[in-house]
Amino acid sequence: MAKRAAIQGGLEAVSLLARAGIMPRARGMGAIFTLHHVRPATPKQFDPAAHLSITPEFLDASIRRLKAEGYVPVALDELASFLALPERPGPAMVFTLDDGYRDNDEHARPVFERHGVPYTIFVSGGFVDRTHSIWWETAEQLIAKLDEFVFDFGAGEKALPTRSMPEKYAAFDMLHKSLSCTEQEDIIARLDAQAKDAGICPTGIVDREVMDEAELRAISERPLCKLGAHTIGHVNLAHSPEARMRDEIARSASRVEDIAGKTPKTFAYPYGDRCAAGPREYAAAEELGFDLAVTTNPGVLNERSTWQRFALPRISLNGYYQRGRYVGALASGIPFAFSKSA
Ligand SMILES: [Zn+2]
Repeated sequence: MAKRAAIQGGLEAVSLLARAGIMPRARGMGAIFTLHHVRPATPKQFDPAAHLSITPEFLDASIRRLKAEGYVPVALDELASFLALPERPGPAMVFTLDDGYRDNDEHARPVFERHGVPYTIFVSGGFVDRTHSIWWETAEQLIAKLDEFVFDFGAGEKALPTRSMPEKYAAFDMLHKSLSCTEQEDIIARLDAQAKDAGICPTGIVDREVMDEAELRAISERPLCKLGAHTIGHVNLAHSPEARMRDEIARSASRVEDIAGKTPKTFAYPYGDRCAAGPREYAAAEELGFDLAVTTNPGVLNERSTWQRFALPRISLNGYYQRGRYVGALASGIPFAFSKSA
């Protein structure tokens, strides 16, 4: 929470500086943006993943703002050659959407097409085939429903009250922490079993929210769309044994190739922070034949990006900060310097 306030303060400060015309030139060579859900706002009392949803209006405003500031739309597939240009027409704006949510087709695609902006959707084969659940979607529905969450987070059963909103958020945070820096599989299996006992079908949620093979094939045929790989089971790769880590990456590339009819050039590490992807994973993505790979480590593109193509930073277009004037500030990379002190 302190971090969120600091980022928000930083964004306000930077957007004020920018309006006063004294914005430091820190936007580097551009930015890769991360999106998840793009859908109209539906206010919910318990909304622990609100940061993963932006509205189509905010996406539209963001693209207009970035274009007005001289950013050039670049497809992630073309980014390596763009960065290698001796002279670039402006900083790059690159759009990526993780996990293949169905609203990407319904609400984001029309915005990208209206502006002629390319985008890449990162696909997890286990979501497409409904063999794997999405823990944060399952947990939201389960904790919303319960008055008490009795769960083994990894060190024996704990009973957490989940009647009030603060209690529900606290239980969700505890689950998130228990999953953040670990191999995850056992905890997710227990969460899925408990959801089923409560009448919630975890893969049914995936079926409602995520595009299936036919839908992905159709969107991949649109001119501005590319598909990238994102593992099969949306696993924390850094906490998986070497053979499984490589197998997850390689099989997800084949699954995307089956769907789109061509080998994906790009890869996104699930979760994508330093706890989920490090030098071992960066090397594997390179050896397994991708052109580049993206993390969720915040930052803008710079000279280093040209030789660290398998650890590219991204900037989350975040549901908490949906104001047009923030986007230029986010893309400048400056708010992260503010947030580091928090
Ligand atoms: Zn993901």
